Amino acid sequence: MNALLQLACFQMLIYAGMWAAGWVIVGEERRSVLHWLGFNLLVAAGMGLTLLRPTGDPWLTVALANVLIAGAFLLLVRGGALFLRRPTRDLELGLIALAGLAFVLWTGPAPRGPGWIHPGGAATAVIAWSLLSMCWRDRAALAEQFGPRTAAVALAPMALYGGLQAWRTVQIFTRDASFVHIQSQSTANELLVYASLLAAAVFNLVFMFLIVLRLMGRLTYLVEHDGLTGLLNRRAIQSLLEREWARWRRLGEPFTVVALDLDHFKQINDRWGHPAGDEVLRSASSLLRREVRSIDAVGRVGGEEFLVLMPGCAPESAVGVAERLRRSLRGQPVAIDGGREVAVTASLGVAAVDAGDPDLEHLMRRADAALYQAKHEGRDRVVRAQAPRPG
Ligand code: GH3
Ligand code: MG
Ligand code: MG
Repeated sequence: MNALLQLACFQMLIYAGMWAAGWVIVGEERRSVLHWLGFNLLVAAGMGLTLLRPTGDPWLTVALANVLIAGAFLLLVRGGALFLRRPTRDLELGLIALAGLAFVLWTGPAPRGPGWIHPGGAATAVIAWSLLSMCWRDRAALAEQFGPRTAAVALAPMALYGGLQAWRTVQIFTRDASFVHIQSQSTANELLVYASLLAAAVFNLVFMFLIVLRLMGRLTYLVEHDGLTGLLNRRAIQSLLEREWARWRRLGEPFTVVALDLDHFKQINDRWGHPAGDEVLRSASSLLRREVRSIDAVGRVGGEEFLVLMPGCAPESAVGVAERLRRSLRGQPVAIDGGREVAVTASLGVAAVDAGDPDLEHLMRRADAALYQAKHEGRDRVVRAQAPRPG
């Protein structure tokens, strides 16, 4: 039994080392990583104490080992909440830690008569509560951030191990002695240690996997979005356009593009400064995002040039939407530093995909031509692109 426990202890130290390396190298989610590093260290310390304790089962050592292990799981829960940006419930965790401590003190060093309950009951109860409550409360946040399938895969081992520890708590409280002393040789205890080895491996891998998934999500976001405005960037909107074009060719589903360029933007920069210009870009972007349907896509394709892609939108209603965008922009001056307001207008060119468009570029050129016509005619207006010449 001791060899198995030594192995488990060593394994926890390896995981702790991995988290320490992750903390230094990856540098992401540092607070959660520190909590999970602490989790592994505390479990290793608790197991180490169990291993090192002198014969005769001295109460203080046993109690301390159990307190360390229970505390480890509270850290695990807190790290999970931090990672998912959920409330850390410190008061609740603190009260549970206090209740566990009180229980351990209450069991007391003596007497060890038949009525005595092992202090390990507190640790198993805290472990069960930690894991089961984490599964229950964080399942929605996990599913929302990583998808329901990842959430299920991540939580299932925790729920299983939590259930196992709940069962063990019941055994301890009903004073089934063979389950009480982890060091005593029994099949149940061996299985428990194997299950714990497996659970520790799975928990640590799951958390590392979630960190990698989050990093990948951030990278994907950066690749597809414009840093200043948060809108889709040129590359992302281009790939959406290509998809819409393919749907149009295969299924005949129409779409409309609106090219939008802010008027005299250089003057805004020159007069109010570049930071004010940036503020105008951010504000115009969020207005565009708000004003279109959720299935529409808005991208920033140049300095002060935007593109709105409207799938399944008839040309007439697209012109209506463009007109609404123009009026909203005009009607909402942008507040900049110093309490001033900057008036913003834009010119828009609207082009609906047409059977006469030989390719996507042709459609985009028509939208651009309509935009430049709007500029030419005096700006602050919407121009609908001409249908392509047949042939
Ligand atoms: P027009 O009405 O003909 O479109 O005139 P305009 O001044 O808007 O057009 P022009 O293309 O001459 O100027 C665009 C300006 O946009 C020039 C450039 O300095 C500015 N710009 C481009 N990107 C950014 C940016 O990220 N932030 C800020 N503040 N300005 C930018
Ligand atoms: Mg402009
Ligand atoms: Mg421009």
